Amino acid sequence: MAIIRKKIIINGVVQGIGFRPFVYKIALKNKVLGFVKNTSQGVIIEAQGSKSHIQSFISDLKLLKPSQSVIESFKISGIKIKKEKEFNIIKSEKTSKARGIIPPDLALCSDCRKEMRNPKDKRHLYPFINCTNCGPRFTIVKDIPYDRPQTTMKKFKMCRICEKEYKNPVDRRFHAQPNACPDCGPTVFSIAGHKKLEGFEALNAAADAIISGGICALQSLGGFHIACSALNKKAVSKIRKYKQRPSKPFALMVSNIKEAKKICFIGKKEEEILLSPSSPVIMLKKRNSNYNCISPGLSTLGLMISYTPLHEALFQILRSKGFHNPLLMTSGNKRDEPIAKTILHAKDKLKGLINLALFNDRDIHNRIDDSVGFVMEDVFYLIRRARGYVPSSIKMPVEGGVSVLAFGADLKNTFCLSRGSRAFVSQHIGDLSEIENQDFQTETISKFKKLLSVKPRLIACDAHPNYHSSILAKKTSVKLVKVQHHLAHVLSVAAEHQIKKPFMGLALDGTGYGLDGNIWGSEFISVKGGKAERLAHLNYFGLPGGDAAQEEIWRCSLSLIKMLDKKFLLKGRKVFKGIKKEKIKIVEKMIEAEINTPLTSSMGRLFDAVASLAQIRQFSEYEAQGPMELESLFKRKSLKPYKFALLKGQNKIIIDPLPVITGILKEPDSPMKAQIISEKFHTALSLMVKDVFVSLRKENKIRIICLSGGVFQNKILLSLTKELLEKENFEVFTNVRIPANDACVSLGQTYAALKKIEFTL
Ligand code: ZN
Ligand code: ZN
Ligand code: FE
Repeated sequence: MAIIRKKIIINGVVQGIGFRPFVYKIALKNKVLGFVKNTSQGVIIEAQGSKSHIQSFISDLKLLKPSQSVIESFKISGIKIKKEKEFNIIKSEKTSKARGIIPPDLALCSDCRKEMRNPKDKRHLYPFINCTNCGPRFTIVKDIPYDRPQTTMKKFKMCRICEKEYKNPVDRRFHAQPNACPDCGPTVFSIAGHKKLEGFEALNAAADAIISGGICALQSLGGFHIACSALNKKAVSKIRKYKQRPSKPFALMVSNIKEAKKICFIGKKEEEILLSPSSPVIMLKKRNSNYNCISPGLSTLGLMISYTPLHEALFQILRSKGFHNPLLMTSGNKRDEPIAKTILHAKDKLKGLINLALFNDRDIHNRIDDSVGFVMEDVFYLIRRARGYVPSSIKMPVEGGVSVLAFGADLKNTFCLSRGSRAFVSQHIGDLSEIENQDFQTETISKFKKLLSVKPRLIACDAHPNYHSSILAKKTSVKLVKVQHHLAHVLSVAAEHQIKKPFMGLALDGTGYGLDGNIWGSEFISVKGGKAERLAHLNYFGLPGGDAAQEEIWRCSLSLIKMLDKKFLLKGRKVFKGIKKEKIKIVEKMIEAEINTPLTSSMGRLFDAVASLAQIRQFSEYEAQGPMELESLFKRKSLKPYKFALLKGQNKIIIDPLPVITGILKEPDSPMKAQIISEKFHTALSLMVKDVFVSLRKENKIRIICLSGGVFQNKILLSLTKELLEKENFEVFTNVRIPANDACVSLGQTYAALKKIEFTL
């Protein structure tokens, strides 16, 4: 029988997820000799055996690979046979050409959950239990290859039992880098006043604090959480006051799916995502009004399941004490600041709020927030992409190229670093007007460069000259490419879905700097090869006070009704109850004299105006609050929708919103008025989008459509629009793996820089 030997180099997400133990097992099964090792180039295998054994070994490699792994490349070459007696896992080495990829953090698996619930197990209620299928990854890794000495677990020396598990190829913890137990691993401790408690006692004290209505800080996986009973209104409002979030929704955490189902309606796909290793927060439909203080004014609630053993241990203790409420679980930071990462940081930031802090001695190297998303028609859409997803990459439809670093947009900032055709979009960084978030971005960029071993040769940023992200980008001494905001939005969809053909994009958005100096936000753009063109947009209207109109949303509606006949103006003014007459007059004068009143085509602001005219609210406390409440009121009753007018401009379609505004003003007063406006407006908007695309297709024959922009996080709008477009035979794509909001801009910038796409007005 002829013996052959093959060298196999596997690239992708193949480290830190039990890949080598898997290779070891299938090598034994197929009677293959040789070795497997982790290198910074990826996993290298040398396999020796009979031709048929090697063949079945290779097919097992591909077919039976661990569910967490992603194989990007698989290279096989024949090499000389060696004298060998067994198959081994050998020590990792670091070579210069680093190509490894770190997996995202994985939620507590069902085996570990079972173990820690068993009072007889040595890891009973141990907050750092993990195995090759679960546990920290990205948050603890400092350098590649992913091995214990390169993580914040370095300082913990495994005890004899843990080491035995780690070295035993048939053990669930074989080569689980963060493997630990109460004898050798990290410890929780709490400080309440001057008392320091450790281990179980610390957990117990945290549980008692929560039961008695207190607020705890927890040093979690990617940063600190603030937790309290979700039904304790006093504690919830204390957190609201502290975080300066009077009504912005919070997320809840429960310990299992059964508890989740008591609070919200949960579909099959939603259940699957809730229980997945990524374990994000999912926006779900509330069952009742019990949790209205958590998400006031909304029909949805963000929910997640205890994803670290620390959370799970806390729940177990709470349940054993007869306490069954869900916990409010929010990031440990003040409004808009990054999540606290170190004990010192947390002590400084959270004092005055918390009754007790649960710390531990495993450092968080990479800070990361909880991810958030929603399910629509069996597809999971991310709204905030962070833990459980980062640092997974997105393959762009390019054949490699230089490494690009794109700085993203200023709100919901992410940056993106490319390596070959792979785009690595960072975790949610946040609002860059906060200096701490700028530092967070700078720090994370250098960590990404190290983990990916790349030096960017091209920098991309937004076309906005005064964006903090643009200013940061200009500080680098590398060649700079400026990308228009909405072009970046639609390109991010094309990048994500590997679209190479010409397409038409639509960004419905809050704000973005336009090429004519106005604030854009409803942009139909075609992209053909290296050329992009603006084809249609919402007619401009004034934003009296600029940024002030984002919070005082009545300014948006006042600006629009000022464009109508006097009789509508008189009618419209009546909407502004509670706003001083003099204030309204001043703003009207601003509009008339065009003082500090930039022009905009923003769909976000039109939505705000409609929420104002529907008398849902006149002031917005968080971004899109009015529009989200308007969406929550939607009921499909098949009423006759309002109608946008489409005007033919110079080579462009101009969309006139005024007929919609008059339609709303004509609505008779009734308790159902806001609900009626919600339905008619959502429907009108989706019909307008369809009509514009149908009209544009007559000219350019393009039937691929990419939808992006924060407004498409509106589930109703997304679903109505997709349905109408697909009925017209369009092929519709949207942001799925990255959010449709400004978090996708860095990916679009990267793609624009690589493809050298030029935008003409
Ligand atoms: Zn596990
Ligand atoms: Zn141990
Ligand atoms: Fe945007």
